[in-house]
Amino acid sequence: MAKHSPKRKQAKLPTSWDLSSLPKLKLFSAGKNGKLHYTRELDLRDMGILIAGVLLFVIALLLPVPAWARTMGLGLSALCAAFAVLRQILFDAFDGHLPLEELVIIAAAILGFAIGEPVAATIGLILYRFVYYAQAYAKARSDAAVDLVRDSLPEKAHVERDGEILRIVPEAVEIGDILLLDVQEALALDGVIMEGLSEMNTSALTGNDLPKSVTVGDEVLAGYRNLSGKLRVRVTRSFEDSAAPKLLRTVVGAAEQETKTARLSHRIAGIYRIALPCFGFLMVLLLSLGGVEIREALRRALIVLFLAGPSSLVIASDLGYLGACLSALRQGILLKSQACMEKLAKTEVMIFGKTGTITEGRYVVTEVFPATGIGEEQLLQVAAAAESHSRHPIALCLRRAAKLPAEMIEGVMDVQETPGRGISAFIEGRMVYVGNAAHLEEHNVWCDTPLRSGAAIHVAVENRYWGYIMLSDSLRDGAFDALESLRAMGVKDLIMLTGDVQSVSRQLAQSMNFDKIRAELRPADKLSYIRSVRGGLADSGFLGYVGDGINDAPMMKESDYGVAINALDTWEASSEADVAILDDEIHMLPAVMRISEQMERIALVDLLVWCGSKALLLILGLTGVLPVAGAVLVDAAVSVFILYNALRGYDLE
Ligand code: ADP
Ligand code: MG
Repeated sequence: MAKHSPKRKQAKLPTSWDLSSLPKLKLFSAGKNGKLHYTRELDLRDMGILIAGVLLFVIALLLPVPAWARTMGLGLSALCAAFAVLRQILFDAFDGHLPLEELVIIAAAILGFAIGEPVAATIGLILYRFVYYAQAYAKARSDAAVDLVRDSLPEKAHVERDGEILRIVPEAVEIGDILLLDVQEALALDGVIMEGLSEMNTSALTGNDLPKSVTVGDEVLAGYRNLSGKLRVRVTRSFEDSAAPKLLRTVVGAAEQETKTARLSHRIAGIYRIALPCFGFLMVLLLSLGGVEIREALRRALIVLFLAGPSSLVIASDLGYLGACLSALRQGILLKSQACMEKLAKTEVMIFGKTGTITEGRYVVTEVFPATGIGEEQLLQVAAAAESHSRHPIALCLRRAAKLPAEMIEGVMDVQETPGRGISAFIEGRMVYVGNAAHLEEHNVWCDTPLRSGAAIHVAVENRYWGYIMLSDSLRDGAFDALESLRAMGVKDLIMLTGDVQSVSRQLAQSMNFDKIRAELRPADKLSYIRSVRGGLADSGFLGYVGDGINDAPMMKESDYGVAINALDTWEASSEADVAILDDEIHMLPAVMRISEQMERIALVDLLVWCGSKALLLILGLTGVLPVAGAVLVDAAVSVFILYNALRGYDLE
């Protein structure tokens, strides 16, 4: 359970703030280089009417005409600006929504004309529309960024059915179908290679341009682009469940769990838009009671009404966080909830698994020590057979090292894997234990003490000790630098937990500069350790667990958030992680932390600027220091700044 249990997004926001109510503009298109290009496509009629309004406004102000004619001109100009707002009001009313924001603006404009402030009223309306367009622009920018990910998928796939080749949409492809993948074509669904040898570009998913060589039997994912040889791929997942569509759905759905700053923005803005008009009426009353002339009181209240206007804060916050998630995805980091950005940014303790996280998790057999009467090959084969169903890196290594006859795998039954210990299985009717010394001793088999330091995997058959196999694993490239970067970013405690023996972890401790290392832990020990560290943290500090997604789901759950490294290879196993680093690059860990910190700062600046400016404008307006038009202008400028600032979320690195 997370300490700050993330709440679901509160009741749906009022319609006019809802992103879906913004016009669907297509302002951007994706170019070949994966960058967005500005294209011109806008609701031209609305825009045209608004611009006509602006022109009328300028003419009315500049022409030396009598006052009544000027007011007429301004009135026409205001009508132009109000045109789309009035339409929106009708539209919402028919839809059964209350267009509160629009009604307040129209009321403010009418009030402005009534009390002889036609210039301010017209400026207010015009700027209201301009901010609206700024919001639409931001939304279009966001939609385009989402489309950019979607565009990594092909529109049609070549499927071989009954000897015929069909070109069909990915949604119509079924599990088990055979896809034909040409050079330079992108794969539409996840699958396994049946035929062919090639290199693939995985950058749409991993952000990494280094080609990955693939061959028969390899799993390949939707979004990979084929670079060199033709491939035949058997589909293993439906389109919806395939990698790229799933990533996209996850990123867009990440808003369900919002950060504290986002929640605060939603709340403040939600209360504000209702409270402010009420406050306006109250002020008129108080000011006139306090001896201020009624017209002047109304003039000041006008400021209050206009300031209740467009709230770019909510839109900025929503778009900004989505943008940050997309920025992360571009680099191959999947953020499954926005809430974890806040936790990442405020991490105090980071706990790492060893195997597959700090080390590569690609063990190799270095030496084999069979007991007397047992052959080396025989020892390896029994061990590999017992491991034939495990996904543990040790299992992969043993299977690779032993040339296992197929009939031996068929004879394996009742496999039991004890995380942090090893495997028990029946092989051809004999009980076999494979694992560390503690595992065998639990079953009353006494092991030799290995001659060298390192990871030893012991084997026993029918309670007889068969010997041990020495394995070694290498440190991940960049692990040291990644840890140093995390420390520089303010993580106070870097801790490594492992089920491996002390001797291996001591070597690691020397080369890695961890604050603490705990070895020979069983999963339950790891859990209680995490619990105790987390218990000692203040509410504002967070604990993250970084693992390889194999057997560490409980540790991730026990922490404030979990990060899985190399998640594309352990797609299923990593489902518990809140952050998935898709490639096996540990330096992405400081990268995602940096993105989170920057986004949190952007959101906070937006929130503070918004609150600060509104408060200041209200004070200056109500005390009569600032004219209405001035307040409205500053407010619009603040809105545009907030949106612009939030859009930086799309370009974080
Ligand atoms: P880590 O904490 O480094 O990720 P694990 O908890 O996965 O390591 O495993 C700890 C130890 O338990 C391993 O070093 C190994 O000795 C033993 N072990 C775990 N799983 C297996 C397995 N499938 N086969 C053999 N040994 C295993
Ligand atoms: Mg592990």
